[in-house]
Amino acid sequence: MRYATEKTLSARVKALGESADPAALSELTGFCASPSALVRRLAASALGKLAGVVDAAPSVDVLLPLLSDPHPQVRQYAAKALGAFGTSAEKALPALRDLYRNPAEPDYVKRSVTSAGLAIKTAREIAAKQAVHTCRRCGRTVAPDEYARSQRFFQRVLCDACFDETATERRNFETQVEDAKRIRTVDGTLVQSDGERRIAEWLAAHKIAYRYDTRLRLIEGFQIRPDFYLPEYDVYIEYWGMDTPRYKAGMCLKQDLYMHAGKRLISLYPDDKARLDAALGAKLAALARTPPAAASSVDSLRPAYTQQEPPP
Ligand SMILES: [Zn+2]
Repeated sequence: MRYATEKTLSARVKALGESADPAALSELTGFCASPSALVRRLAASALGKLAGVVDAAPSVDVLLPLLSDPHPQVRQYAAKALGAFGTSAEKALPALRDLYRNPAEPDYVKRSVTSAGLAIKTAREIAAKQAVHTCRRCGRTVAPDEYARSQRFFQRVLCDACFDETATERRNFETQVEDAKRIRTVDGTLVQSDGERRIAEWLAAHKIAYRYDTRLRLIEGFQIRPDFYLPEYDVYIEYWGMDTPRYKAGMCLKQDLYMHAGKRLISLYPDDKARLDAALGAKLAALARTPPAAASSVDSLRPAYTQQEPPP
């Protein structure tokens, strides 16, 4: 590039860096691809100065490739600029780490890589501390340690009081489920209710493989215990046998979770017990014709969402 041209372009890039103008991004994006290493370096530096003014995500996307620029000073200024974008530049951390570990990298590049990494991580910690989390059950704001503990155990946000309640309920539920398995199907599976027995026997009679009460599958971070899972169909069956308000609220939430997770669910109710050929057979036949991706949920009988409450 001719010296005079490079000088003109450099002046323009510097001016853009001082402009505080969000529209400067598109022109600077072009300058980041300039054949002149000086112009690329100045453009990276200008973008860093405009952090907080220009759109962060596209700016980071422009800066990121400059970390592998053949010219070390371009890499140095790109790293510096990325640091200015804080949490928005989190995806640059692996590339920054690679630069830092490269023995051939000059020290001045490593220094700016180190401070950029530190700036991004600090910004991330501050953002995490500022995030306000509320208990899923009572709505109270939870402390960071409550947040961490409930996420780890239950994959949801709970205050300490609700955490203890949930843990007790979960234990009681597990015991109740095991205690309730008293009804034996023809193929020897122990189930909880007459409805479940009929479903299990219908499946066995139609030579459809099933798993009964498989423990705690994860759907969207929630632990769910489906009544039946049919591996050949990749479909879940839930038998909704009770009618209490709490049971119904849990049922609605679970049905929503299946739907949002894109899992195929067939819901069966006490009325369906006597007509499983129609209620279950027809739905399975329809599913066999529909690829899983196309059918996010087959539940047409899903009642309206009534109340938000975690499942038991
Ligand atoms: Zn709570």
